[in-house]
Amino acid sequence: MSKPVSDTFRLQLVTRRDELLARLQGQRGGARSRAEAASDKRERADDRGLVRDDAFDLGAELGERETAELQAIERALERVHDGSYGLCLQCGAPIPAARLHAQPTAERCVACQAQAE
Ligand SMILES: [Zn+2]
Repeated sequence: MSKPVSDTFRLQLVTRRDELLARLQGQRGGARSRAEAASDKRERADDRGLVRDDAFDLGAELGERETAELQAIERALERVHDGSYGLCLQCGAPIPAARLHAQPTAERCVACQAQAE
């Protein structure tokens, strides 16, 4: 993939990453590791016995999905850096730009993704 094209996706990825980080920080009152969040949850469970904190659980689930997306974005940015961005991880074929526009973190071409699912 030519440099100007991968730059467009890099910008898209970085923008999305900043968005997610801002949202996670808003939720948790600061950037925190998943381990910290988990130990926080255990402490709360001890404090409150078996009482379920549904609001907290919802927040944790949202955080997990966003954390997974962040990790996918980091992997995509690494591939931009080493020049393999936009190539299918499985067969090495170029992933169509339309697919990357829809999902900048796509790691496989449509055919390989269909096989993986
Ligand atoms: Zn493929």
